[in-house]
Amino acid sequence: MSADKPATSPSLPPTEAWQWPEEKWRDIVTRVRAGRSLKPKSWPGGARCAVALSFDSDHETQTLRWGHDSPGRLSTGQYGARVGVPRILALLEKYGIKATFFVPAVAAMLYPDEQKRVIAEGHEIGIHSWIHEFNSQLPPAAERDLQFRAAEVLEKITGVTPVGIRTPSWDFSQHTLSITREMGLLYDSSLMADDDPYELLENGEPTGIVELPVEWIRDDFPYLAMDRLGSARPYTPPSGVLEVFRREFDTAYETGGLYLLTMHPHVIGHSSRIQILEELIRHIRAHPGIWFARHDEVARYCKEQAGM
Ligand SMILES: [Zn+2]
Repeated sequence: MSADKPATSPSLPPTEAWQWPEEKWRDIVTRVRAGRSLKPKSWPGGARCAVALSFDSDHETQTLRWGHDSPGRLSTGQYGARVGVPRILALLEKYGIKATFFVPAVAAMLYPDEQKRVIAEGHEIGIHSWIHEFNSQLPPAAERDLQFRAAEVLEKITGVTPVGIRTPSWDFSQHTLSITREMGLLYDSSLMADDDPYELLENGEPTGIVELPVEWIRDDFPYLAMDRLGSARPYTPPSGVLEVFRREFDTAYETGGLYLLTMHPHVIGHSSRIQILEELIRHIRAHPGIWFARHDEVARYCKEQAGM
């Protein structure tokens, strides 16, 4: 009887998510997942809140990743290196803050002196892909090869072995975590399952890798990016972005957690935006018990406190 026929014939391969057997969706969800919280009882020196500022120095790779060669578009990336990074470094120096820069290998090769300066001034440089490629679109072998080579390039230029990774556009493939484990990295900063640090699980097993979670809410890009031919427009005024960033900090402070902010030199480096970063730093510094730290320091401390 046609009325009794199931919606899907069992002979057809189940391809739609609503047709998946429980085993399949459980397997997908379990592959990379948040494990135990690594939020410490307190931060170094009895501090109440950890503040970790990060800058993703993508520069021209934001254009190259799409296979584009327009000098016009490339110039917006070059702005990040010429104007953005020097402004950021001057601001960090002014307030004595150490931060983390995530740099694609190609950007590091375009600007080796910039990377050397970043390291010389006490900041950290982390892995951020080869040319800002999307991990989830790569064959697994290519992703592995690029992640290893990207680390080698950073180490060769700076003389420091990177211990952390941020995947470009936070695009994390089914294979990224196993590559990160194979490399023996300390932390990842690409996922969003919590406000505070946690341990990553792979197929339900603890990995010892610390996740320092990010969020699009605490990223300058979605509010301030401009794409002439796409739909991205800076609809939010700098004051609006400052308000969101400040509210996010206020809760992190309130709860004794981690406040991690992601910015881009070619985005936050412009005059009207670097001003809000300075205002934010002043707002944060007006609170007692702040620990400004690089990502590697935060990850190491959390791991130590958890007895890992
Ligand atoms: Zn990036």
